[in-house]
Formats: sequence, C-alpha cells, structure tokens
Amino acid sequence: MGSNVLYIEDNPDNMMLVKRALEARGYRLLEARNGLEGVAKAEGEDVDLVLLDINLPDIDGYEVARRLRKSSKSALVYVPIIAITANALKGDAEKALAAGCDVYMSKPINIRELWARVEAFVPSPQLSD
Ligand code: MN
Repeated sequence: MGSNVLYIEDNPDNMMLVKRALEARGYRLLEARNGLEGVAKAEGEDVDLVLLDINLPDIDGYEVARRLRKSSKSALVYVPIIAITANALKGDAEKALAAGCDVYMSKPINIRELWARVEAFVPSPQLSD
C-alpha cells in the first residue's frame, strides 16, 4: 500500500505545517496550490489520500471533490478525501460530505487530529514497520 498524500491548499503556512507533520510519520506529500492543479495531480499521480482545503482561489473544495468522484480515473471515485474547513459553520461540513468527502476537520489544524484522521485511512509507513 502506498503512502502518498495529496494536499490541495493555497495557504503556504498550512502547507508547511502539514508537510512537516506528515513527513515526520513517513508519508510523502504531494502539493497543489489551487483546485485545478489538485484535480490534475490526483489524476496524474498515484494518490492514496487527499487533504482538501475548501476555500481555494479557483474552484472551491466542494467542486474539487465532485470532480474527483466523477473522474474517469476509477481510483479517485474511492480515494479517501479529508476536507479541511476554515470556519466551523455547520453547513460547510455537511456540504463537504455531500460533495463526496469522507470526513472533515476544521482549522486551525490540530496535528494530533490530523495524524489520527490520516492514519485511519492510510497506515503510517513509519509506525507499521
Ligand atoms: Mn484556502
């Protein structure tokens, strides 16, 4: 099983935080700075899990999730998607799930929650050896 995590996020501070946190557990982080780049990387590379910011500069995270679920690359119909919502508005979480995300977490990103949520889908390469 692979351990490639694609993070679609336009905020460089969050990108750096998540990159350090996941690489510390042995994951490989693929980065996309906007929604369209994210969809393209998901379709072009081996991706085992997607972390998805909702507020993106082009298409939003909901649209990204819908495109992944409808992709002609069949693995993307089932790839785990964790939405990361900026505000704790209840509607955001529900919209993320309706768009095809599996779970959501809210910002600010808590590293222990991130590890737990990622590991629930993709075992840490470091911890499983
Ligand atoms: Mn954003």
